[in-house]
Amino acid sequence: MSNTKIYYTKPSITELEVGYATDAARNGWGDKCYEYIEKFEAKFKEFTGSKYAIATSSCTGAIHMGLAALGIGLDDEVILADTNWIASAAPITYLGAKPIFVDILPDTWCVDPARVEDAITDKTKAILAVHIYGNLCEMDKLLAIGDKYGIPVIEDAAEAIGSYWHDHHAGTLGQFGTFSFHGTKTLTTGEGGMFITNNPELHEKVLALSNHGRAKGQVKQFWPDDIGFKYKMSNIQAAIGCGQMERIDDLVSRKRQIFQAYQAGLRDISGFSMNPEKKGTINGYWMPTVVFEKSTGVVREKLQVLFSKKNVDARGFFYPLSSLPMFDDRLGNLNSWDIPNRAINLPSYHDLTEREIERVGLIIKSSLIKG
Ligand SMILES: *Cc1c(COP(=O)(O)O)cnc(C)c1O
Repeated sequence: MSNTKIYYTKPSITELEVGYATDAARNGWGDKCYEYIEKFEAKFKEFTGSKYAIATSSCTGAIHMGLAALGIGLDDEVILADTNWIASAAPITYLGAKPIFVDILPDTWCVDPARVEDAITDKTKAILAVHIYGNLCEMDKLLAIGDKYGIPVIEDAAEAIGSYWHDHHAGTLGQFGTFSFHGTKTLTTGEGGMFITNNPELHEKVLALSNHGRAKGQVKQFWPDDIGFKYKMSNIQAAIGCGQMERIDDLVSRKRQIFQAYQAGLRDISGFSMNPEKKGTINGYWMPTVVFEKSTGVVREKLQVLFSKKNVDARGFFYPLSSLPMFDDRLGNLNSWDIPNRAINLPSYHDLTEREIERVGLIIKSSLIKG
């Protein structure tokens, strides 16, 4: 078998995206400077079933603006899972608020609703549901907790394009949802993000915030009514996004095929679990992930050595955010502190071949051999 390098991620860019980006670079100026942005937002609304969408320069920016629009500020608390990428937590701190890290469920690797409820105080201003690796949070429970305490539930769906909770696309269930189009994501514009909501007031607020605080109805030119942000997407990026949106069904279904190919290849071994797809949900499988049972003795370090020997990128499971130097350890978050030690993300880019999937599967199998 060939030993060429297998990357864990690579975007899928065709002539369609190149053609739109070229057109945007050549013609998308003056009167047409927002044309692809508006098209991209329209396509995104149609795909997710959301009423409003605002294209942004990043998901981090989209979260920042959404939190600001909810009025979150100094000393407020936002509850989220300890298992996360820093981008979900950083915007909370930008506003002077505090991320409260709680433990995850052992099967979905998403926030444990019972721990969320335990963590609620009179400072809690939002519950941030992050659909990790495409897996869905238990939205019914989180929304019920939000209702009970009058706290908004918001969704970071950066990893969950193509994931559905009972026919609702991820990101459309809470007060707002955010997405990322970074180069590693299922849909990419190089860098970029999206803010979606069904709430017209929240939409108006974020629209103004995204444009340096200039309100939509303000007729005075260069007249911000408030201090806002500059988190806009460029027309050229949006042009690439339009091409990707035309191919979204293919991009998502290839993720699902790759996941299923891994599952089929690993059918005859046991002692591990992968991303779940619970009843009533569809998983967009952004990142196929294997978590070994403790009894197997397979640990992160061993996996990393085996993967690197076979020239395959090994991507580690997220460390608990509370283990980072800028936050206080939360050793009580047992799953968040334990699972990363025996887990790995598998390569899953669009053009990965069946042979390459087989090569990765063989490494997984070899890791179970003792010694
Ligand atoms: C990638 C990612 C982000 C950050 O997205 P950017 O577009 O890079 O800001 C935020 N949250 C999650 C869950 C992500 O996976």
